[in-house]
Amino acid sequence: MALQYSSKINKIRTFALSLIFIGFGVMYVGLVFKNIEWLMVLFFILGLLCIALSTVVYFWIGMLSTRAVSIICPSCDKPTKMLGRVDACMHCKQPLTMDKNLEGEEFDEAYNSKQYRKKIKNETDTNK
Ligand SMILES: [Zn+2]
Repeated sequence: MALQYSSKINKIRTFALSLIFIGFGVMYVGLVFKNIEWLMVLFFILGLLCIALSTVVYFWIGMLSTRAVSIICPSCDKPTKMLGRVDACMHCKQPLTMDKNLEGEEFDEAYNSKQYRKKIKNETDTNK
């Protein structure tokens, strides 16, 4: 089984885009109930909420992008952005790491989690 990683920014972007489609879908469902006014209004509001949420998510991507580190992918030589300690290239999905200790290690999203950092800290403490 081949593991497929995609960059976090791409993942969030896909999520925001699908929210827009869900929003329009929900509003379309509202048209089916155009005979029941309150139900139609309810679906329209839900649809608008989804679209508003996707705008928020897009805004959030913008904020994240300013924090992301721009690098040139060593694998495909294209500029990409990475978030956190481990991320994947936006173009070729090459796993990338900011941490020298993780170089050559198997890619795992868990490296970004607080538990993992705590684990590493405990290990270094006991080694002292
Ligand atoms: Zn790449």
